[in-house]
Amino acid sequence: MHSFETKLPIKSSMPTKKAPLKTIAPIKAGVKVRTPVRAKTLDRPALAKNQTVKKESAGTPLSVIIRRRIEAQKARFHANDNIAAFIQPGELELLIDEVSEKMQGVLESLVIDTQSDHNTKNTSQRVAKMYIQEVFNGRYVVQPTLTKFPNISKLNELMIIGPITVRSACSHHLCPIMGRIWIGVLPSKDSALIGLSKYSRLTEWVMCRPQIQEEAVVELADMLEKKIKPIGVAIVMDADHFCMQWRGVKDRDSKMVNSVMRGAFLKDPNLRREFLSLLEKR
Ligand SMILES: [Zn+2]
Repeated sequence: MHSFETKLPIKSSMPTKKAPLKTIAPIKAGVKVRTPVRAKTLDRPALAKNQTVKKESAGTPLSVIIRRRIEAQKARFHANDNIAAFIQPGELELLIDEVSEKMQGVLESLVIDTQSDHNTKNTSQRVAKMYIQEVFNGRYVVQPTLTKFPNISKLNELMIIGPITVRSACSHHLCPIMGRIWIGVLPSKDSALIGLSKYSRLTEWVMCRPQIQEEAVVELADMLEKKIKPIGVAIVMDADHFCMQWRGVKDRDSKMVNSVMRGAFLKDPNLRREFLSLLEKR
């Protein structure tokens, strides 16, 4: 899974910032999450529920049932949205079956002999599992719990977390995006802090969806602002886009680097420079 190469926050020599920031960027309306979804095991209550679903809507694909639940709540279900709140325990297994069946259809339309070609015999199932349990898992499971603890030592110096390894996929072609993220946080003395490993977990949860790099970093920044309530948050993402390497212009060296600066990082050029210069040294 994601490696977490640097665990210790770097304390900068920046003078401490005390002025609280009045404007906090609006938090993107997300989907409320409540029920934890197990990706692998089907426990008894889950089976019972699945049987109910099957009985109530015989013949209706599970994806349609889930979609109706989402639409009833007028929620969004774009590629990079999390829909865990609309999925009942045990249903992910059934969703894998449905995706697998349709993926088999794709292979057939590609005129691949999945009967005689032993390499592709179970490809549809493998791809379905890979999408739901791995690379797009951040759409289907609830947000990782982030235990917050009070800022007892009243830290208000720049912290940099990273590089956090990013594995994602573009929502245009479902091609991999592989990269790294650095997060800069300037906590206020009243901020709630989260454990260092949680930055990595949260990043993974956001990135394991079909994404657009520009939107992904904004979503991550929104979440961190909401959770930590810092004076400033900064994110830099640097990634290889396989839709420019594997396909398209086949430009193997092209990368995309983008950043989001919030609060003090936006207002204070010295702080921004400090953050970026520390990244350059790494
Ligand atoms: Zn693409």
